[in-house]
Amino acid sequence: METTTASDAELLARISSGDESALREQVVARYAGSTLSAEEKLLITVEHGGMVGRRGGGDGGDGGGAVRRRADAACPPSAQAPGAEARNVTGDSGPCGAPRNDGPMTQKMNVESFNLDHTKVAAPFIRVADVKHLPAGDTLTKYDVRFCQPNAAHLEMDAVHSVEHSFAECVRNHSDSVIDFGPMGCQTGFYLIMVGEPDVPATCDLVEATLNDILALQAVPAANTTQCGWGAHHSLEGAKEAARQMLAHRSEWQQVMA
Ligand SMILES: [Zn+2]
Repeated sequence: METTTASDAELLARISSGDESALREQVVARYAGSTLSAEEKLLITVEHGGMVGRRGGGDGGDGGGAVRRRADAACPPSAQAPGAEARNVTGDSGPCGAPRNDGPMTQKMNVESFNLDHTKVAAPFIRVADVKHLPAGDTLTKYDVRFCQPNAAHLEMDAVHSVEHSFAECVRNHSDSVIDFGPMGCQTGFYLIMVGEPDVPATCDLVEATLNDILALQAVPAANTTQCGWGAHHSLEGAKEAARQMLAHRSEWQQVMA
């Protein structure tokens, strides 16, 4: 077994202070006498998770710094489950059995939004999440209508429910092309599915008009036990506050990435 030498300690101090050339020097020292080339030594070391004192996955980046946030009044802060990130990074396989070696984002997944790096977006925004060209020649476009910054904030569930009801009812006063408007389970936004090719500017106008309708509502549409599966689980004021916050950032909706 190797022991940490004085020179390792010095190099470690330099590596810790961000001196990248110390990495190369440490590789050379560690593999002294080997017939491997310097490039091969460096490659092997990097692939085995980095140098002395560097534990974990060998992610050299700093994650891009602070997440940019726009809306937050209607979106209370989200708690991150302890260890959730570590579980994601170290899992041996994906949730559906697909092999996964290096954590999230390394393999293309079936669901479009699972391939979106949620740490790189700036909510609120509206983006195209999927386009389906149907056999008969029709096109469906699915939009990600994001109200809250992922993993930083979310809508309360009764507000989500009331936005869903209100938007679904009001949007159809403006368009005959709406297929569906449904909430995301993470409570940070909704999916809007429309007939037609992608048209983000027109969709932003449609969402704006619908959110303005919500601000004028006197009651949540169909919030009763006859027309809804949980008629008591609504918040008109929560829906209005979500709409207000979204509208306050109208000029930024088409900028998705931070
Ligand atoms: Zn309902």
